[in-house]
Amino acid sequence: MKIAIYSNSGELSKRVSVKLKQRIEQSQRLEIDDLSPDIVISVGGDGTLLSAFHHYIEIIDQVRLVGIHTGHLGFYTDWRDYEVDELINSLENDNGQSETYPLLEITTKYLDGDDTDVVLALNESTIKEISGTLTADVYIKDQKFESFRGDGLCISTPSGSTAYNKSVGGAIINPSLKALQVSEIASINNRVFRTLGSPLIISPDEWVKIIPDIHKKAVLTCDQQVRSGRPIKSIEYKIAEKRVAFAQYRHTHFWQRVNNAFIGVQDDSI
Ligand code: NAD
Repeated sequence: MKIAIYSNSGELSKRVSVKLKQRIEQSQRLEIDDLSPDIVISVGGDGTLLSAFHHYIEIIDQVRLVGIHTGHLGFYTDWRDYEVDELINSLENDNGQSETYPLLEITTKYLDGDDTDVVLALNESTIKEISGTLTADVYIKDQKFESFRGDGLCISTPSGSTAYNKSVGGAIINPSLKALQVSEIASINNRVFRTLGSPLIISPDEWVKIIPDIHKKAVLTCDQQVRSGRPIKSIEYKIAEKRVAFAQYRHTHFWQRVNNAFIGVQDDSI
């Protein structure tokens, strides 16, 4: 089985990567292949795993991800830095086990050209204003839903619902559900601008279109990346056909993961 190691530049991450590489080279069943891997091991935190996801985006439907965390507890990172030998053992006994999560497809059209930009997000996409408030019309399935004014909007995947979306009051969605969530970031509500004020959960046969005010300068993000600074005509969000796969060598129940990350209460009944 071909393995790629994708590490951040931290000292511990580098040490873990060296150890991983040595163990893989010693193994009869595993080999290093950074170009066309079956498994991508991210070493760092959630941010590193997000970077690994985007690094391998062209072949994301052909790989499975594994996260080793070398910092504080991560959401996508199941393995600890001192568990390299256990992980190698799991890789050697791999039988293709995986868990897949929905992804967000973002289609952007620009005012200064006819080209269309299509990207995938693992966590979320946000649309904000560089300075001042964002003004934008929100459409669901091509029907105008509301006029938004405020700091911005956050459109997240179920696995991203525990990230930025949670900070802005969105609901946490079990990633076994195929859904998208639209959450407001500090909306202004008055007689002119009236938004629902609650997060929206979008089903697989629906899509959301956002048309920002052309006189302002909206900034689009996709996970930790800022997309181009070109003037945006419209952004369409829907659930992508592709999904992301994680090698599921150990199973942590989703709500247990949420509890571990945010509450920290050990309760056997969860
Ligand atoms: P970062 O280093 O600022 O990390 C942000 C935090 O988000 C880290 O603690 C990370 O562990 C956590 N995180 C990332 N994905 C998560 C997930 N799916 N569930 C729970 N926690 C998660 O930035 P980064 O490492 O480059 O990560 C980028 C992510 O940061 C973005 O995708 C966005 O979700 C998040 N973010 C959050 C806020 C906020 O909460 N106000 C603001 C900006 C970005």
